[in-house]
Amino acid sequence: MGRKQIDRIGVLTSGGDAPGMNAAIRAVVRAGVYYNKEVYGIFRGYEGLIDGDIERFTARRVSNIINRGGTILKTARSERFRTPEGRKQAYQNLRRYGIDALAVIGGDGSFRGLKVFADEFDFPVVGIPATIDNDINGTDFSVGFDTASNTAMDAIDKIRDTASSHNRLFFIEVMGRNSGFLALYSGIAGGAEDILIPEENRGLNELLFQLKRSKRSGKTSSIVVVAEGDKTGENVFELARYIEENLKEYEVRVVIIGHIQRGGSPTTFDRVLASRFGVKAVEALLDHHTKVATGYRNNDVIIYPLEEAIQAPKKVSTKLFPLIEILTT
Ligand code: ADP
Repeated sequence: MGRKQIDRIGVLTSGGDAPGMNAAIRAVVRAGVYYNKEVYGIFRGYEGLIDGDIERFTARRVSNIINRGGTILKTARSERFRTPEGRKQAYQNLRRYGIDALAVIGGDGSFRGLKVFADEFDFPVVGIPATIDNDINGTDFSVGFDTASNTAMDAIDKIRDTASSHNRLFFIEVMGRNSGFLALYSGIAGGAEDILIPEENRGLNELLFQLKRSKRSGKTSSIVVVAEGDKTGENVFELARYIEENLKEYEVRVVIIGHIQRGGSPTTFDRVLASRFGVKAVEALLDHHTKVATGYRNNDVIIYPLEEAIQAPKKVSTKLFPLIEILTT
């Protein structure tokens, strides 16, 4: 814990973008100004930090952004930040602007980089979890997940209308290369027949069995939600082909929802979460905490060690699995 007084706080967004990042930026800026500190917006994540793409932000600079998707600070991935030279350059730019603490809004990759940086230069840092994958360890929810799962659910609802009109079976791919949260939540909310996630591979036979069972029970259409990283088939198209060959009664279609899941106006939940995280992050820095992340547990906002946040990706709760079988009876 450094005890040097904090006068200037830098804020950046990094890695994959998520709806609600703007609400988090706004909260960091406004909380900083509220506590009579200067706040600096750093553009394009760690890339902009290395390039010195930095601007003083007033409270007014973040007006009218709480409702906007994306990030006004832009985001980026940075190979240079993975190198000691790149991080040194980043540190020198912070020194140049007199910035003495850094808030990073991003996913676990961004947190990993932040931890390396903070260790190297003994620099005060805080991480704000923002990822549509919701896979950051130690927090029940990350900014962006609620909005993305609502977007996926809306898409599923619309596809359901056409599925039931034509007796079709739809495989709907949602985002999540390593994580099943988005698939599980949007699938449960969208009334999916089955949900396939990377954390649990039940195999093609069981999927076929489940779909045959539901066909026998009189269902005329079905929706299977598949996380991008699911390994039941080579990919969602191969999966669909297998089922089509083995279950002739259905016409099978594939929909990949894709990047619309990253966009759009954030939900109430994400705006409030981002606002609470942003304020908490600034207060944590001013209280001389460092290498911490903000988190949401038991309906409360807390801070906890960054180390814990990057330990291993959070896994979906297995408590939800039996729900799917019960609800598709
Ligand atoms: P996300 O934050 O969405 O998980 P990434 O995994 O792409 O996104 O990480 C964002 C950036 O964080 C990377 O492009 C890189 O600059 C930085 N980063 C990630 N891991 C490390 C690491 N081990 N050391 C240094 N920087 C890292």
